[in-house]
Amino acid sequence: MPDKLRVGVIGGGQLGQMLGFAGRTLGIECEYLDPSAEPPAAAAGRVVRASFDDDASILSLASRVDVLTYEFENLSVEALEPALGMCPVFPPLAALAAAQDRLAEKHLFEKLKIPLPRWHAVSERSDLSAAAEVLGLPFVLKTRRFGYDGKGQFVLRTDDDLDAAWRTLGDAPLVAEQWVTFDREVSAIGARGTDGMTVCYPLTENLHADGILRYSRAPVSGKRLETAAHDYLSRLLDSLDYVGVLALELFAVGDALLANEFAPRVHNSGHWTIEGADPSQFANHLLAITGQPPREPALCGHAGMLNLIGGIPAAARAPDLAHATLHDYGKSPRPGRKLGHITLLAEDAASRDRALAELGNTVTGLAPDFGTRE
Ligand code: AMP
Repeated sequence: MPDKLRVGVIGGGQLGQMLGFAGRTLGIECEYLDPSAEPPAAAAGRVVRASFDDDASILSLASRVDVLTYEFENLSVEALEPALGMCPVFPPLAALAAAQDRLAEKHLFEKLKIPLPRWHAVSERSDLSAAAEVLGLPFVLKTRRFGYDGKGQFVLRTDDDLDAAWRTLGDAPLVAEQWVTFDREVSAIGARGTDGMTVCYPLTENLHADGILRYSRAPVSGKRLETAAHDYLSRLLDSLDYVGVLALELFAVGDALLANEFAPRVHNSGHWTIEGADPSQFANHLLAITGQPPREPALCGHAGMLNLIGGIPAAARAPDLAHATLHDYGKSPRPGRKLGHITLLAEDAASRDRALAELGNTVTGLAPDFGTRE
């Protein structure tokens, strides 16, 4: 075996950057493919500047690395397929294909008996009226493909919204979903190795605003929820003969869980694992895809994470935040853009929640509202 394993990463965003940093402690070198001028991953490894569907550049990267992976899911499966002749591509492309299409994803959840919100496929205007009948109002209309961070979604609250929703999204294949009045949103993150060995991180609770993740905290109480979430996660991992990290996002309604979507990659709601667990999701992804068994994560405390969206206020850098770790991805500010995050650790859940509220107040002027649950 060469002294350094080489991983090719399609995408040079912050997830790629964090993979590259994790690789340094594992003797794994990441090389990236990304067309942008200043990709965050340039801080962690060499970046080939090429478009995500540039066959020649993908093949050339595949020829230089031990395994190919990707850090976002809106990329062409067809463009990656030829690379399979040169090196493994993990996570498997079948997982990528299922995650790219909300309809395929829902069929997969159903096949695996993973509960999910009621839904109705929409390809014509009349389907939208049928969806309103079947699901009742409010409901949410989503593009089947290329949605992220709440983009490509329209919440319909009255019959008058049907035409507006159709005008906004009607050009693309769509799916309508029951509006879920959830108690909390959670994500189950796990890593599966080439031998099928699976490890799971404790359930993470997430707070979103405008479809964008704002806060995460882990671990959270609720053993039964966690057991069910890990069961659903394992069904997905095994059925896809998955290799790498996968994040399953779920709505918790009382004691029940409904699957929202899954991401076949390292995930924003697992950023806390960099300081909060050993190994992190990034290290476990690299271990798994390079054919090494993922390791059972040991917790380093109770973790809270705040995403820095649109800008990094001076308060996020102040010395009195020394108990927390700032990750600045080095991106230029833009409204709605994820520019960095802060993770804090505490000895118990109550101290973690107090610290997270203080952090939120200091940095954004608003404390997270996780409700009264711990
Ligand atoms: P998504 O891109 O599907 O993960 O949606 C982004 C966010 O919108 C989710 O994290 C939820 O906060 C909210 N959301 C999406 N779908 C639903 C739904 N069917 N019911 C209630 N909230 C939803």
